[in-house]
Amino acid sequence: MEDLFSFEVETHSRAQMLDITSRVREALRESGTSRGTCMVYVPHTTAGITINESADPSVVVDILEQMERLVPKGHYHHQEGNADAHIKASMMGSSLTLLVDRSDLLLGTWQGIFFCEFDGPRRRRVMVKVMPGV
Ligand code: ZN
Repeated sequence: MEDLFSFEVETHSRAQMLDITSRVREALRESGTSRGTCMVYVPHTTAGITINESADPSVVVDILEQMERLVPKGHYHHQEGNADAHIKASMMGSSLTLLVDRSDLLLGTWQGIFFCEFDGPRRRRVMVKVMPGV
């Protein structure tokens, strides 16, 4: 049975947090796994991944605005002009490990999985590895 999945996401602004929870659930469903763990991995250096509130959309607006204050565009050594995006990506991290039980992700009521774009708009890739376990 297939256990490695990937899907594309398209971002529409330089910084954006995109709720990909349903896409991860879809991969889990396709895998047919009922219990174990699920790793979600972002193979990019200027995008990251995190879990946070998906019920109130203003939460991710606050996170992005505060990230901008913490790491403004400014002047850096990296000459490509996107050093702030590299720093923000590392602050978020590039992978998540999720628990799987009864064929579903064990997420809290208000939690959602967010792809975090910091140098968009771009086409990006997200990988999901499902690991069946006891
Ligand atoms: Zn760069």
